Amino acid sequence: MSNCVFCKILKNEIPASFVYRNATVSAFLDIHPINPGHVLVVPNNHCKRFADVEPSTAGEMFKAAQHILKAIQKSSLPCEGANLFLSDGEVAGQEVGHSHLHIAPRFSGDGQHVGFNHGDPDSNPRSELDRIAKEISRQLTSLA
Ligand code: AMP
Repeated sequence: MSNCVFCKILKNEIPASFVYRNATVSAFLDIHPINPGHVLVVPNNHCKRFADVEPSTAGEMFKAAQHILKAIQKSSLPCEGANLFLSDGEVAGQEVGHSHLHIAPRFSGDGQHVGFNHGDPDSNPRSELDRIAKEISRQLTSLA
């Protein structure tokens, strides 16, 4: 897509520091890294929403991410753990409209945090969890 910053990177129209490329996915360093070695894994074909990414491509994204994480762990970069995350849709914080998987190396004392307001188990009794699980399972069956 012509106005997509990641498509421009993939076409070498703007600079990026690539760590990996194959026929399906590419990975480059985030320009505003959470920590050194913060990588973005993207499908080579433009696709905004993760649900619309070709399933085999989605698999390739995670396969590449696992490989890259192993490489980061072997490197000299501090990496005691990592957050892999994908923000899907503006409401979830997606800023670039080309689906991408973040690999953010983490180390103790890095000053970063992952923030969610988790629900109280009292407001989410088993009956409610079961009802939601059934609804999703039913939709999965209809997708199959
Ligand atoms: P998200 O908020 O999940 O959509 O993440 C978008 C990420 O893309 C942010 O972490 C940005 O720092 C990163 N980003 C934006 N423009 C560029 C660029 N030109 N090169 C590398 N990373 C970028």
